[in-house]
Amino acid sequence: MTRPLQAIVKLDAIVSNYRQAKTLAGGAVVAVIKANGYGHGLVNVGLHLSPHVDALAVATLEEAIELRTANVPGRLLVLEGVFDAEALATANRLDLDLVVHSDYQVALLQEYQPNAGDSTLNLWLKIDTGMGRLGFSPDRAAQQYKELFSLDMVKSVILTSHFACADEPDREENAQQLASFDRAVNAVEKLLKDLPGAEGEAFALQQSIANSAAILALPAAHRHWNRAGIMLYGSDPVVRGVDRPAETQSLACSMTLQSRLIAVRSVHKGESIGYGADFHFEEDGRYGIVACGYGDGYPRHAGTGTPVMVGGVRTRLIGRVSMDMLAVDLSKVPHAEVGTEVELWGNEISISEVADCAGTIPYELFTGLTQRVPRVYLPAE
Ligand SMILES: *Cc1c(COP(=O)(O)O)cnc(C)c1O
Repeated sequence: MTRPLQAIVKLDAIVSNYRQAKTLAGGAVVAVIKANGYGHGLVNVGLHLSPHVDALAVATLEEAIELRTANVPGRLLVLEGVFDAEALATANRLDLDLVVHSDYQVALLQEYQPNAGDSTLNLWLKIDTGMGRLGFSPDRAAQQYKELFSLDMVKSVILTSHFACADEPDREENAQQLASFDRAVNAVEKLLKDLPGAEGEAFALQQSIANSAAILALPAAHRHWNRAGIMLYGSDPVVRGVDRPAETQSLACSMTLQSRLIAVRSVHKGESIGYGADFHFEEDGRYGIVACGYGDGYPRHAGTGTPVMVGGVRTRLIGRVSMDMLAVDLSKVPHAEVGTEVELWGNEISISEVADCAGTIPYELFTGLTQRVPRVYLPAE
């Protein structure tokens, strides 16, 4: 028998969450599949999603190359853009959309010598409205826009920015970032009116600022383009207790991390288990050993009490997570035996519960799932 740990990936759930993002956002939605498709498998997710989406996005050129090598068609945005001339030539050849966030990237574009077969580029001009990571200051937006727009190799320029606090929609920083973005939008629109070749309706300035949290709970941020990441994978990043638009439905779970018990043990009161021997049983009883550990990406910081489903019963993890195994309490699961099915996260145990218990976020758990865990796709590719 092969090791029973598997990540079951429901590709149709990702498509249905994408549709929900489109309904909520109203405009076009970029499906963000960076970091190995949030752990779901870059190429499999890309191939399955591409016929359904307006565009895909990854963080790096390397990820984009992997997708194009697997013949994933359509618009594909590289969120960090390119770092040198060779990368720009590759991006051009692969017909990628690029974020431009720094002066050196503008210089690369200006100095670029076209090659036969080059495409014209869609650029995403990034404005730093308060995240403090990448992008030009809003008061440079118009000038930068003009410089990029005037290049022969450029097909379109989309104004973009990113929120720091969208998961807490009521925070003042969101309104400030939006106001700052809108100032940049106004400055560019004013300039566009006077720019040769940009007159008329067809040149309405394309904009993009919303991530999943803003798609779900910050309607003022919805623009021509919106960028959905974590929500595609069934996880809602917005803090609890925030009002949602009436059309909001619950997101579909896209991944079940499942395994089985590979040992069942009896124990006496007072005995301990695992590294550090820091979990002591308060009664005689039974516990199980599950094939899954931090070497698979299950968080080592998930302590005793983290929920786990065993044989359809919600029980708890006990003791320290090891590299390849973890232990579960079987006091409420009398029917459990070797081979009994275990859900670490999925439909019954949400990945956010596990993340909360480990002091982290679903993003980190999804992207931290290691190579060692086979991904099984439903429906089969
Ligand atoms: C990762 C990323 C997203 C997606 O964010 P989610 O919170 O997962 O929706 C959107 N925009 C940018 C620039 C990103 O880097």
